[in-house]
Amino acid sequence: MRNKTVKILSGVCALLFAVALGFVLIQHFSVSGEEIEILSDGKVIYTGKGVSAEPVYIDAVSAHGVNRIRIDANGVLVESADCNNQECVHMGYLKSAYMPIVCLPNNLVIRYTGSGEASAPDAISR
Ligand SMILES: [Zn+2]
Repeated sequence: MRNKTVKILSGVCALLFAVALGFVLIQHFSVSGEEIEILSDGKVIYTGKGVSAEPVYIDAVSAHGVNRIRIDANGVLVESADCNNQECVHMGYLKSAYMPIVCLPNNLVIRYTGSGEASAPDAISR
């Protein structure tokens, strides 16, 4: 009886270990230079791929205003915003991990996640 319990417990432990390991591996491999995060008022409102074959629209609504963000095949950009200077719109696509898209009036940040991986040399330049 006792033996059986031990066997079950060790089986559960092995299973938990395998699941945990799987999570670690998935997280490790999904964090690449293409992962972006969007922060509105200091809160993360989106994390995920920075490119999408089909355009994806995200409205970042803060206490200060609204930014319409588009993720498409070329990357992520602020398509429109109600801020006064429109700098975030003029920045165009997010190009580098070192140059996040920032909208100061609306307290919005769009940046690559992960620890400062150098941006790909073939990044779009214009
Ligand atoms: Zn702006």
